Amino acid sequence: MTQKRDYYEVLGVEKGASGDEIRKAYRQAALKNHPDRNPGDAAAEARFKEATEAFGVLSDEQKRERYDRFGHAGVDGQMPDFGGDIFSHFQDIFSEFFGGGGGGRRQQRGRGPARGADLRVQQRISLRESMTGAKREVSLRTPIACEACEGSGAKPGTKRKACSGCGGQGQVSVSRGFVMFTQTCPECGGEGTTIESPCTSCRGRGQVEKARKVVVSFPAGIDGGQRLRVPGQGLAGQMGGPPGDLFVDVELAPDEEFERDGQDLATRLKLSFAQAALGTTETVILPDDSDVEVKVPAGTQPGDVITVRGKGVPRIDGRGRGQLHVVAQIEVPRTLSARAKELLAELAEELGENDDESDDDEASGDDARGAGEEAAPPASDAAASSAKAKKKKSA
Ligand SMILES: [Zn+2]
Ligand SMILES: [Zn+2]
Repeated sequence: MTQKRDYYEVLGVEKGASGDEIRKAYRQAALKNHPDRNPGDAAAEARFKEATEAFGVLSDEQKRERYDRFGHAGVDGQMPDFGGDIFSHFQDIFSEFFGGGGGGRRQQRGRGPARGADLRVQQRISLRESMTGAKREVSLRTPIACEACEGSGAKPGTKRKACSGCGGQGQVSVSRGFVMFTQTCPECGGEGTTIESPCTSCRGRGQVEKARKVVVSFPAGIDGGQRLRVPGQGLAGQMGGPPGDLFVDVELAPDEEFERDGQDLATRLKLSFAQAALGTTETVILPDDSDVEVKVPAGTQPGDVITVRGKGVPRIDGRGRGQLHVVAQIEVPRTLSARAKELLAELAEELGENDDESDDDEASGDDARGAGEEAAPPASDAAASSAKAKKKKSA
């Protein structure tokens, strides 16, 4: 077995280094050797782990004291349980220079400054808001540090005192048979300290609930299922530790006219038979109130999709927009004037001749039958009979 290096040497600090100096040195070492920056480099990972272990001891006043007195023997077996993932343990420190890793951070309990927990809320936004971006005030009811006792929980003028149950360790040893277990001290809940006279404002909790409002900015292009991070708007830190972050899970409200698929938008466009047959230019108003000219080519069929580039949802990075897909929907009039009936009958006759020609050599019989059935109920005369006649022919 190799000899363990001195923790101060590992971090490159003096024996009497302040907490700040140790923190700074560890950050530097961690930055340099973090596995994310040195993929596949086992030596860097070993240095990273070594530095993390050193920091784990030297950043904790009591462990540092034991280490100073007894060396490695004083803290062996006292290492915090990393739960198999040494990297997540100090993530609160990393978040300051790695940009945070999202939720799931562990909150350190007990003595010393600890980062506040993250908060998560869900917000439903409209399609319009997702296209234009939006700012919204979100009400949160969260505990904040009690002002009267500055978060200590002890009556102003008094102090917390070391827990008599565990002597300030936060943990106690219990024997079961031949085996010794360490467990969280039941008297102080692992805090290591207890309160003799609790603060009356917060009843000793150190925190009070307060409603507050946070302005959340939804950038243009944001989609449902995405998560926004609002730094520093989570729960307050303990004993001067930094606050956690607020995470906003975005939900997209369904829109009556538009569907969103990634950066693309889809909508239906109602066209008359004449418009579809002859072609037209129609204006579609997008959820963000902008107009789009849609060119409908002559001979457009029901269900045909007309795509307009660059008229979808803006990309969240501001680099252009997706596409707009317009699905043609042909409307059949429910009531007709006598004149319209006359004209349609004439038209049917005209088209019927053309259809006969194509029916003979194309397998379009099914389409023709469908159209005939739809047109049948309102029309009582020539149009219907000619459709029926054609149906018989193609069947
Ligand atoms: Zn205790
Ligand atoms: Zn208080």
